[in-house]
Amino acid sequence: MNLEFTPEENAFRAEVRAFIEANHPKHLEGMGNREDMSPEDMTAWHKILGKKGWSAPAWPTEYGGTGWDSTQRYIWSEENARVGTFMPLPFGISMVAPVIYSFGNDEQKKRHLPGILSGDVWWCQGYSEPGAGSDLASLKTTAVRDGDHYVLNGQKTWTTLAQYADWGFFLCRTDPDAPKPQQGISFILVDMKTPGIEVKPIKLIDGGYEVNETWLTDVRVPVENLVGVENQGWTYAKFLLAHERSGIAGVARSKRGVEKLREIAANETLDGAPLMQDLDFARKVSQLEIDLAALEITELRTLAGEQAGKGPGPESSILKIKGTEIQQRLTELTLEAVGSYGTPMYGSITDAGSNEYPIGPDYAQHSAATYFNMRKTSIYGGSNEIQRNIITKMILGL
Ligand SMILES: Cc1cc2nc3c(=O)[nH]c(=O)nc-3n(C[C@H](O)[C@H](O)[C@H](O)COP(=O)(O)OP(=O)(O)OC[C@H]3O[C@@H](n4cnc5c(N)ncnc54)[C@H](O)[C@@H]3O)c2cc1C
Repeated sequence: MNLEFTPEENAFRAEVRAFIEANHPKHLEGMGNREDMSPEDMTAWHKILGKKGWSAPAWPTEYGGTGWDSTQRYIWSEENARVGTFMPLPFGISMVAPVIYSFGNDEQKKRHLPGILSGDVWWCQGYSEPGAGSDLASLKTTAVRDGDHYVLNGQKTWTTLAQYADWGFFLCRTDPDAPKPQQGISFILVDMKTPGIEVKPIKLIDGGYEVNETWLTDVRVPVENLVGVENQGWTYAKFLLAHERSGIAGVARSKRGVEKLREIAANETLDGAPLMQDLDFARKVSQLEIDLAALEITELRTLAGEQAGKGPGPESSILKIKGTEIQQRLTELTLEAVGSYGTPMYGSITDAGSNEYPIGPDYAQHSAATYFNMRKTSIYGGSNEIQRNIITKMILGL
């Protein structure tokens, strides 16, 4: 494994850095995953990248991918992390699109891929149900054929940002009598404006509105919105989950986060001295950096393997577990560093018309909300316990 970048790769880095500096909206720098971002803010960078042809680096070039190799994609994520861009949401670009271009028909590719690339069409994921999360195959939402339509009934939950979605991809049971629960599931694309769809907010502890309950009552969906073969949806669902998991490690963003944490801890004081000089705090930051360096090497090794033609395989579960644990520790330490400035809830202050002012330094304002929000990372994309089960079976062979 060669960890040095080649002159061509360094030139590529200079090119993407210059593009980001010239084109990324300055007011969005470092917004990260803020609970008060508007939908326009969330799609702004995606739309700029869409015009440049850089919104979907991992797609095959025939559908609009950049043709970058995995090292170039790694450099791309590092350069975006450097300024804290808000990357295209995963639901279109890295979840449903690979399913559509791999298993969809020509009509579906023509209809859906351009809007996903440009960032003009917002997608949501209708997989989980109140009784079907880790055990997704037990899902109960039904799609019953009625002439040239399916009629959908059921309840999905945790549907991220469905309040803005134009389209959703839903897993529905089309054969309730199939011998195994994994059989008899279909993958259906649904226009979110179809009558019978009700999206109800779930308020989160960080004060944000990110997830929803999605109720489906007699929702009529044209049969041509079925992807692939009826009752084979489980195959496409698993294919999509592998895409969802890759990328959750977020090494480049955590590296930038540690740099910021060091800046905060150099500014904050404990007993009159910079917090960074406190041995206990410094030890925790160093341990985090060591774990992050180990994760980075693991990710680079995976990339080197990909370059040599090996798929990411079950090691993506290691990246997911370690990456999300590090993200959570990073936000814990940031909250610890800002101390009591982290306690005010800023949801109402950022509302239009509020005349209150935030207390303390800028970096403290969203530290508690971010800390709470990041608890989700060990749950979504398949919980970390489930990833450990995968490692036990697929890597350790137990
Ligand atoms: C912020 C957020 C956003 C999400 N967005 C979406 C979305 O857009 N669309 C969507 O469809 N879903 C979404 N999800 C749902 C997510 O995929 C599920 O929460 C996740 O799969 C876990 O399912 P569950 O919540 O039903 O927990 P459960 O499956 O009920 O699990 C509860 C606990 O038991 C553990 N557990 C369960 N089974 C096992 C086992 N076999 N071995 C060991 N431990 C086990 C789990 O690890 C967990 O700790 C989101 C979740 C969150 C938190």
